[in-house]
Amino acid sequence: MMSTPANAQITRPNASATTADNEKELLRVNRALKTLSAGNRTLLRASDEAELVNAMCRVIVEQGGYRMSYVGYVQHDERKSVSLAAFGFDDRYEQEEETLRNLYASWADNEFGHSVTGISIRTGKPCIVRHLLTDPDHAPWHAEALRFRYESASAFPLHVDGEVIGTLGIAASEPDAFDEAEVKLLAELADDLAYGIGNLRSRLRRQEAEATIHRMAYCDALTGLPNRASLCERFESVLAAVVAQNQPLALMIVSLDHLQEVNDTLGYAQGDRLIQTFARRLIEAELAETVARVGEGEFALLLPNADSARSSATAQKLSKLLHTSIDVEGLAFDVHTHTGLALFPGHGADAEVLLRRARVAMRDAMQAGRDYAVFAPALDQEASRRLALMGELRHAIERHQLALQLQPKLHLASAAICGAEALVRWKHPLLGQVPTFEFITLAEQAGMITPVTHWVLEAAFRQRYAWHMAGIELPLSVNLSAHDLRDPTLLDKLKGLVETWGAQPGWIQLELTESALMVDASAAVEILHSLKRLGFQLAIDDFGAGYSSLGYLHRLPVDAIKIDQSFVIPLVQSEDCATIVGSAAQMGHKLGFEVVAEGVESQDALRRVTELGCDIAQGHFVSHPMAADQFGAWRAASPWASPASPAH
Ligand code: C2E
Ligand code: MG
Ligand code: MG
Repeated sequence: MMSTPANAQITRPNASATTADNEKELLRVNRALKTLSAGNRTLLRASDEAELVNAMCRVIVEQGGYRMSYVGYVQHDERKSVSLAAFGFDDRYEQEEETLRNLYASWADNEFGHSVTGISIRTGKPCIVRHLLTDPDHAPWHAEALRFRYESASAFPLHVDGEVIGTLGIAASEPDAFDEAEVKLLAELADDLAYGIGNLRSRLRRQEAEATIHRMAYCDALTGLPNRASLCERFESVLAAVVAQNQPLALMIVSLDHLQEVNDTLGYAQGDRLIQTFARRLIEAELAETVARVGEGEFALLLPNADSARSSATAQKLSKLLHTSIDVEGLAFDVHTHTGLALFPGHGADAEVLLRRARVAMRDAMQAGRDYAVFAPALDQEASRRLALMGELRHAIERHQLALQLQPKLHLASAAICGAEALVRWKHPLLGQVPTFEFITLAEQAGMITPVTHWVLEAAFRQRYAWHMAGIELPLSVNLSAHDLRDPTLLDKLKGLVETWGAQPGWIQLELTESALMVDASAAVEILHSLKRLGFQLAIDDFGAGYSSLGYLHRLPVDAIKIDQSFVIPLVQSEDCATIVGSAAQMGHKLGFEVVAEGVESQDALRRVTELGCDIAQGHFVSHPMAADQFGAWRAASPWASPASPAH
């Protein structure tokens, strides 16, 4: 009498045992054992899942002598179908493979799922049918069984990570197969197979995770470009090739300007989009062997076989191609870049050194207002000097190394001094005076401008109060930088100072460069209105050097424009400059602004700016900037002490 494993679903009870049955049983156990051990060898050898299930099905038929075997996988689709992944059957049925594959199997609890396959999956237990042809429950499968000549069928669920992922089906040609002992061994085989599948799947997951980690380590997620690590690797192989041909190699760094402003004002998502579009343009330019992203807005390009002249030409070409506009949230963002070049072998022989030097050259281009620059050894010293300087600026404020100088402004029609501009000075204990423009630019780049601006504002209010006490009631101008407009503490700082010093409206004028206003035009309009509400006069500095549209200027609540010195200084010799100054003055007046000419260096220049309609002149001819405490005495002694004196 054959008993069944406690957890097996036997759909038909077995007949009574005889000696012949016992022999048959032994034979079956024997074939199951052979199958199990051959199956284990297969498991050890398989390196991928498809190979494993196919080999297992083959072994079951070839070594175990079963009629047919298959592996089916659970699909979580609407029909709860079972996809047949592998078959094992002897050669006679090869031409039937297609038919077998197309047999529809399901694990749904309906007529399609009432097969050994479906039941084993649903119950999670082996399902055995020992007399298929006479079993009425399995009538739908009689035709198939007759065709493929099997009379008993079994299916063993495949458990992986606590879930039934499929089933291993085995059919035997004779009826009455799959007794308890055989089923036990075959269930073990199915468990081994499931274990093997689980192992291979987790190995695959691990490999995929490793591939992702590798991708992340070598690829920039935002642009899909190689990253810095990958560039350095690539550099090695490109270097080997150029060295073999006795050729040079250029490494170029292109920096996308104003990215920080876009991030700060429009948000990181827009900044990211800008980077992606820019990266695409760099690739589409097809000017380099490799394009990599090596910093927030920094890209590196490898140019094999390029010498100084060729790489400079490429840099120029690239600037032309890139300096167009990119649409950022409906705003046309004018792309500006600065490029630095370093060359192998002249400037270094490894990627890190060349990257660093290309970046130094890029900063030099930025400082000098050029599109690109080639590295020069002096720049390296310059870069370390600037770095040291930045470190020291942090202490300069506490150590009272900053001072204000004042430069007077002359009202042309009344020939009277009508105000002054406060200009910060830094006297370094060892280096002496550090050029203002240099350390202001550095402070802006290093995110250090806010404490400097706050210091200047405090000093200017104190000075303006001192004027008030001395009976001098003229506006004092303070320069703000683009970063100040994004300083969330600026308005509070100014309010506090107005309260502290009892400042009257018009005591302080704020000068903002045209380009600072253009960084985020619509936000700037709002801030200017807030500043105006606090009682500050506003002026657009360096007017003409940026590119603001007339329509935009019209919306700004400003009081004055200061025509950039680059047009005023050459005014006497250059008719073009005179025309520009004249039209700027006319336009300024039409918009209701006072017009200041800065950079008036001579009597002739003073006369010309007067003729061209400017209202106010500032420049060396009137006076160089002077220590703040000298201003009162200077003014009293100057020819423009009071409105009564004639203009020079
Ligand atoms: P700016 O606001 O346009 O100031 C005018 C600059 O031109 C000053 O240079 C001044 O000394 C110089 N200048 C005046 N008259 C003449 C002239 O007749 N000929 C020539 N060639 N130059 C003249 P400075 O003091 O070196 O300042 C340079 C720039 O640095 C300023 O340009 C301004 O943008 C910035 N800056 C100065 N002080 C501050 C400050 O306290 N805060 C901020 N954020 N920026 C400042
Ligand atoms: Mg100014
Ligand atoms: Mg200026």
